[in-house]
Amino acid sequence: MTVKPPPFEYVVATSVDHAINLVSQDEDAKFLAGGQSLIPLLSLRFASPTLLVDISRLAELRDVHRAGDVLHIGALTRHSDIHQLPLVKQDAPLLSEAAGWVAHSQVRNRGTFGGAIAHSDSAAEFPAVLLAVGATIVTRSADGERRIPCRDFFGSHFQTALRHGELLTGVELPRHAHFNRWGFSEFARRKGDYAIGGAAVNARVDERGRCTHVRAGLIAAGPGPTSAEGLDEALRDRVVDEAAVSEAVARVEGHLNPESNVHGTREYRRAVVAESLRRALLQAFDLDPAGTDRRTA
Ligand SMILES: Cc1cc2nc3c(=O)[nH]c(=O)nc-3n(C[C@H](O)[C@H](O)[C@H](O)COP(=O)(O)OP(=O)(O)OC[C@H]3O[C@@H](n4cnc5c(N)ncnc54)[C@H](O)[C@@H]3O)c2cc1C
Repeated sequence: MTVKPPPFEYVVATSVDHAINLVSQDEDAKFLAGGQSLIPLLSLRFASPTLLVDISRLAELRDVHRAGDVLHIGALTRHSDIHQLPLVKQDAPLLSEAAGWVAHSQVRNRGTFGGAIAHSDSAAEFPAVLLAVGATIVTRSADGERRIPCRDFFGSHFQTALRHGELLTGVELPRHAHFNRWGFSEFARRKGDYAIGGAAVNARVDERGRCTHVRAGLIAAGPGPTSAEGLDEALRDRVVDEAAVSEAVARVEGHLNPESNVHGTREYRRAVVAESLRRALLQAFDLDPAGTDRRTA
């Protein structure tokens, strides 16, 4: 079935302020970045904005740089660059790995980091990584700049803390350090499809090998991007072994509430997310022989 989008006006923004002004003045206007989520929604008539403001040529939103302990990634950075840039591989290896799991190369070459975060699909990889590492979302609007911890940013069913006319300009991620460990696992029917379930894990260990902190973002585990509840309490101050991982996963699984859909029942999806979390934790704590090269800086 081919459906055509409803009619809309289209303007190419020449600056961040220009884009914000245009969208702020029209309550039915939307920003257009890579178009990889918005254009399909228009074509299916699930969205019908009167005005699309194309931000894709704003070079200032493509900047990736270090600032002290954080890595700043501009909103217009493409998924493929997140996957390939040496700076991202070094400072945010979990994010770089996850980017390779997003869709197919055609989508990764056009889709933008900011677009994926603003779209806030519960089955998307990037929100899970941001929750795992404790990233900060940076936005701009007519009222100025806001810095929003990601735990306060994502809501349920594609909702975020973004207000109308507020542009996501970039994200700040704590830079990977020698005491960090990470793991990523997801399951999809075909490589490049949206995940049926998945998990991104970020942990810290001390010099005695004890876990001092662990956080996981879960993929397709609920109505919005979801953190693994109870994980830190289960593993903190322990030398993590396979038994500890199983115990922690069982604890988290009880909190999971995925929605049944054409890809599987709630129970099946819960089991997939739990198994993904188990595998990601095994990688992170060097208990998975296949993942041993990935855990340290
Ligand atoms: C076939 C296919 C498979 C896909 N598979 C996956 C997958 O496996 N995993 C995954 O995570 N994604 C997947 N996607 C989605 C893809 O990652 C999109 O690129 C992403 O969700 C949106 O980024 P975009 O730049 O294309 O945003 P757009 O489509 O341009 O915009 C999406 C939404 O975000 C808003 N927006 C965009 N940029 C900003 C900004 N800077 N500030 C404020 N609001 C903004 C827009 O107004 C719109 O509401 C898939 C897409 C396709 C077509």
